[in-house]
Amino acid sequence: MTDLATHLAKLDAHLARFRDKGILNLIDGQDIAGQQSFETCSPVDETLICTVAKGTAEDIDRAAKAAKAAFPAWAALDGAARKKILHKIADGIVARAEEIALYECWDTGQAFRFMSKAALRGAENFRYYADMAPTARDGQSLPTNSHMNITSRSPIGPVGVITPWNTPFMLSTWKIAPALAAGCTIVHKPAEFSPLTARILAEIAHEAGLPAGVWNLVNGMGEDAGRALTEHPDIKAIAFVGESKTGSMIMKQGADTLKRCHFELGGKNPVVVFDDADFERALDATIFMIYSLNGERCTSSSRLLVQDTIADAFEARLVERVNTIRVGHPLDPATEVGPLIHKVHYDKVCRYFDIARTDGATVAAGGTAPDGKGWFVKPTLFTHATPKMRISQEEIFGPVLTSIRFKDEDEALRIANDVDYGLTGYVWTNDVTRALRFSDALDAGMIWVNSDNVRHLPTPFGGTKASGIGRDGGQWSFDFYMEQKNTAFALGQHKIARLGA
Ligand code: NAD
Repeated sequence: MTDLATHLAKLDAHLARFRDKGILNLIDGQDIAGQQSFETCSPVDETLICTVAKGTAEDIDRAAKAAKAAFPAWAALDGAARKKILHKIADGIVARAEEIALYECWDTGQAFRFMSKAALRGAENFRYYADMAPTARDGQSLPTNSHMNITSRSPIGPVGVITPWNTPFMLSTWKIAPALAAGCTIVHKPAEFSPLTARILAEIAHEAGLPAGVWNLVNGMGEDAGRALTEHPDIKAIAFVGESKTGSMIMKQGADTLKRCHFELGGKNPVVVFDDADFERALDATIFMIYSLNGERCTSSSRLLVQDTIADAFEARLVERVNTIRVGHPLDPATEVGPLIHKVHYDKVCRYFDIARTDGATVAAGGTAPDGKGWFVKPTLFTHATPKMRISQEEIFGPVLTSIRFKDEDEALRIANDVDYGLTGYVWTNDVTRALRFSDALDAGMIWVNSDNVRHLPTPFGGTKASGIGRDGGQWSFDFYMEQKNTAFALGQHKIARLGA
């Protein structure tokens, strides 16, 4: 059997369990079918995978109440005990990494070569926060001559976690692991286009000994289940990853209950290549950061800003490479780009092929979708783009790169910063002074110099402008999931004003 055939046979065996009952919600440790359901289909060939419980406001209410009831005991549990459970969840993920990768590829269209690593990365997220659980409540002592100030942290309460369909497994672990380590309980509403691995993850957590009610899973649509979660009075905070316009809706929906919100939103990230850069490494990184993960990646380098002195050569090499990227079945280990998540998204990405042509850019590679089943598009490169074109300003979220030329550093900076987003930036130059100056002035939450996106979990992850509010990673996640308290103890007889004495 080929590797693809082996993967398909294994996937078929795993999926058998979902064929009868579909994907159920998991509330207070119980499987809940719900009153309605929807269908999830594979983007590979548009066939039905299974039905999914379509959560309602009632299901969210039940889940939020379960999370509230479970909160005091989970928050009071010794950090070392939480650490143990979180490590067990990581063990469960590692043990089922291949199964998770198979589901994720079939459900989202992501290539297997990236998804097997994404599952392990998810386990790492749990291990990292497991180790931080025992010190999550730690604070500081901030003495003055008259007072000893002591700060402490406590978990904020039950929180809602709303995740998107791009790398849904990894992103869910990223949001949920610190919440649990902090002592919060959760209600997770995964994206309707990619429900499979959220269910597996919740099951792994329960098998690892997580008490009922600590982790509740409610599937469903953003406008009903998602909305109800953001409006629920028992939910103290919303950790959201998704589109910028959805973030804005969530902020409005959460206003009446004064929700604390953390937003990881969209991006239109520049990769800026100066003519003194290491040409080959810059080329490899540029290609990797837009065409891996089908370009459905918030941190993708979707705008190439290339210095005009090397632009012809750089773009020519890009065309060669982009045309040979292997598009195919996501479960084939050779595949580099699989189908886009859904027809809705496929239509959006394909619209940009026409927008580019109408606006006067050159479609130097791709710009078409192959015939046949599935939401495949050809890896695409637009050249001769100008900074104000829609393909230079809007998040396309597919394997589509827009190349813009610049003359000098000032122009590169102006173009780089002249978008609504500010998630990441990638700078390629061998001039260290320029690298420092340029990255300092670049308006983005995360910048890599002479590198692709290599994430270190203790560092802050998040964006400026329309790319987000707040940061994940290290202690930043605890800042969001925890309340800070300061208690001031008088050290002696400091002077107290005596009104009316
Ligand atoms: P989306 O905003 O359409 O959906 C995300 C989630 O929000 C889904 O679960 C959806 O059901 C839910 N939702 C939709 N409307 C809602 C509402 N009114 N109330 C509550 N919940 C609602 O995003 P998507 O298309 O699934 O994901 C792609 C987007 O996510 C891209 O813009 C991408 O850049 C962004 N993203 C950002 C990061 C980051 O870290 N900054 C990471 C991954 C993805």
